Amino acid sequence: MGFDTSGLLPLSDALQGMLEQLACCCDSEQLPLPQALGRILASNIASPLAVPPFDNSAMDGYAVRLADLAAGIPLIMAGKAFAGQPYQGEWPAGHCVRIMTGAPVPAGTDAVVMQEETQADGDRITFLAQPEPGQNIRRAGSDIDKGACVLQAGTRLTPREMPLLASLGIATVPVRRPLKVAIFSTGDELKPVGTPLAHGDIYDSNRYGVRAMLARLGCDCLDLGIIPDDPAQLRAAFIRADEEADVLITTGGVSVGEADFTKQLLDELGEIGFWKLAIKPGKPFAFGRLPRAWFFGLPGNPVSAMVTFDQLVQPALAKLAGQRFERPLQLQAVTTEPLKKSPGRLDFQRGILSQGPNGLEVRSTGSQDSAVFSSLSRANCYIILERERGRVAAGETVTVEPFGGLLL
Ligand code: AMP
Ligand code: MG
Repeated sequence: MGFDTSGLLPLSDALQGMLEQLACCCDSEQLPLPQALGRILASNIASPLAVPPFDNSAMDGYAVRLADLAAGIPLIMAGKAFAGQPYQGEWPAGHCVRIMTGAPVPAGTDAVVMQEETQADGDRITFLAQPEPGQNIRRAGSDIDKGACVLQAGTRLTPREMPLLASLGIATVPVRRPLKVAIFSTGDELKPVGTPLAHGDIYDSNRYGVRAMLARLGCDCLDLGIIPDDPAQLRAAFIRADEEADVLITTGGVSVGEADFTKQLLDELGEIGFWKLAIKPGKPFAFGRLPRAWFFGLPGNPVSAMVTFDQLVQPALAKLAGQRFERPLQLQAVTTEPLKKSPGRLDFQRGILSQGPNGLEVRSTGSQDSAVFSSLSRANCYIILERERGRVAAGETVTVEPFGGLLL
């Protein structure tokens, strides 16, 4: 297209460059289990127990000794074992014990025979099948050994970890305090929702998107609102954010038109790099250090702001917050329509992924202009088109990344 893209920074280089500089900055605290949902584990969790803690029955049936069954005659039921009420009595030869799922197996049990494989005539039980040694016995420690590491430091606690921790009797967990993130939008044209627009004004949408993503990540957000394109007010906002937060995220003011001005201010306050990324949407991006806080400057275009947050800021915040971060899985799908693309930048188009008759299919959500929101709101995935790839024809295979927890 006659547009020189050779000087653009690849996404992976930008990400690596940032991550190399960042380290966890959040102290740990001990929280009761229910309050720890969404927090990040500050240390490995070792199991204080074996799970299950004792040999127990996996079935409703009868606990038997194999030697007693060898005679091929019915066994007499000696008593019953329930979950929470172990069998305490004698267990003479030629006898079996009625046992329920989860009940501890009596000492000497070789196997549990499921009820369906027996016939009861009063307390005389006939066994229709010969059990294998150990059959239907869940052995102590077969799920988790005592002392084994069950969860690693850096794990974000979701509803899936809660019952695991509870099953180990763990009442409180060491977690990181939330990362504190200040945000503001820049631009004279921006108005907050709930106020009327004058000619030339638009609603500030980015702040609501960024706030929502920070909430998904479990960050504490200090929202400094809209700051006009005015050096004194911008300087005051940068200084306040730096004093009160671990991180400052702004949107707007980093593209060519305004960068010189913001750049001057940020050069004076800290060490900020202004990058032109080889991705679309989202070319202009700023990253660096204020005296105390880290700074991320997102592009003003709403879709660019969301995509750069997702792809670059999210992994960086994870590292600062002490979280082990993995991107959502990428899959291959066939595009059902042609996709516009020129070589030079890695494209994150917005798509709709669905199950077709022959496998995964994807189509575009329409205009991929970085100012068009509807493309993002109707999408359920990115269509990721490689940097050097050109126009894509219908029927070609493309890489898709279903939206992960940040955007859902
Ligand atoms: P900028 O990066 O400041 O040059 O902004 C690029 C484009 O994004 C302009 O059209 C801005 O009006 C628009 N824009 C900047 N900030 C926001 C915002 N917070 N919400 C919606 N649009 C924005
Ligand atoms: Mg602006």
